[in-house]
Amino acid sequence: MTDHRTEKSAYHVVICAAPTLFRRSCRIMAGFIKENGLDPAKGTTLLIGKELPENAEELLPTKSGAFLKADCGRAEEVLKSVAPLCREQLILFAPDSFCEELAVRLSVRLGGTSMTDALGIFAEDGAVRIERRIYGGHLTGTFLLKKGPFLISLSRSLDEADPVSGEIEETVTAEQVKESDRKITPVPAGSDLEEAKTVVIGGRGLRSRDGAERLAEMASKMGAAVGGSRPVIMNAWMKREKLVGVSGAMIHPELCIVCGASGSPAFYEGIRRSKTILAVNTDERAPIMKKADACVCADWQEVMKALTGLIAKER
Ligand SMILES: Cc1cc2nc3c(=O)[nH]c(=O)nc-3n(C[C@H](O)[C@H](O)[C@H](O)COP(=O)(O)OP(=O)(O)OC[C@H]3O[C@@H](n4cnc5c(N)ncnc54)[C@H](O)[C@@H]3O)c2cc1C
Repeated sequence: MTDHRTEKSAYHVVICAAPTLFRRSCRIMAGFIKENGLDPAKGTTLLIGKELPENAEELLPTKSGAFLKADCGRAEEVLKSVAPLCREQLILFAPDSFCEELAVRLSVRLGGTSMTDALGIFAEDGAVRIERRIYGGHLTGTFLLKKGPFLISLSRSLDEADPVSGEIEETVTAEQVKESDRKITPVPAGSDLEEAKTVVIGGRGLRSRDGAERLAEMASKMGAAVGGSRPVIMNAWMKREKLVGVSGAMIHPELCIVCGASGSPAFYEGIRRSKTILAVNTDERAPIMKKADACVCADWQEVMKALTGLIAKER
C-alpha cells in the first residue's frame, strides 16, 4: 500500500489463467493496485491454469509472477497447491467466481479472513479496512478485518488499467516461493491536522503530486497544516495521515482553506467544525461554495499565492 497503506509490504495476487478471464482480470487488478497505492514491484502474481496464456508477461499487474499448472475446475487440487504458496499477509484475488471461491476456502485453510467484492483497501495497525458495496449496491460500507492473512477478492465493477508487465517463472512449487514476513505497514499514527489553528486542504483540483507539493509549501509559509481529500490520498499525492473526512481526520481549526475540493458530504463532515471555512473553486456551483463561510471562484494557485503573501506578512 503507499507508505500510508501497505506499499512497503509484499503481497500476492491470484488470477485464473483461463483465456476468457485472464486479460480483464489482469487489467482490473492493475487498476486496483494503482488506485490503492500498492507497489507493483512488491507483488507476486500467481497465475493458475492449465496453460500459460500468450503474452502473459505483458499483461501481468505486478513485476513478478509465477505460473501454477492446475485445473481451475478441481478446487481441492488447486487449494492444496496454492495454500503453501500464499505466504504474504495480503492476498488479492481477481473478480471471477473461481477466484472468489478460492479466496473464501483458502481463508479457512490459512486461518485468516476473507472478503469479496472489494472496492478499496487501507492498512490500519496490522488490520485492513475494506470498502465494498452493501445493501444491493446502494451504499458503500467500510469493514475492518483484524485477523490476517487477508484474502480479498475484487469487485467486478472496478476500473481497468494498463498492466505493468513482469517476469513469470514457468512453474512453481511451494519451495520456490520466497518466504517473507507476514507484516502490513500500519498507518502512521498522529497528524498535525487535528491540532492546527489554520489548515489548508487540497482536493482533486490540485491535479497532480506537484500541485500537492506546491500547496504544502504555501501552507508551510502560512504556518498552516496541510491535508487532502480522498482522491488526493488515493493518487498518493499526499500521505494517508493527511486524509480529511469521515475516513480520516475530523478537524476543527480557526481557519480552514479548501482548494479544489467539491465538498462531498464524506469530506465536509471532516471540516464542518472549523470556525471559518474559505472555499476556492473554479466551479461556482460546487457544493462547497454553498457550505463555506466565504468563497472565491478562481484557480487555487492564484488565490493561494495572494493569501500566502498576506498571511505570511501578517505573522
Ligand atoms: C465510504 C466512503 C468514505 C469516504 N470518505 C472520504 C473522506 O474521508 N474524505 C474525502 O475527501 N472523501 C471521502 N470519500 C469520497 C467522497 O465521496 C468524494 O468522492 C471526494 O471527497 C471527492 O474529492 P474532491 O472534492 O477532491 O474531488 P472532486 O469531487 O472531483 O472535486 C474536485 C473539485 O476541484 C475543482 N477544481 C478543479 N480544478 C480547480 C482549480 N484549478 N482550482 C480550484 N478548483 C478546481 C472542481 O471544480 C471540483 O469541484 C468517501 C467516499 C465513500 C464512499
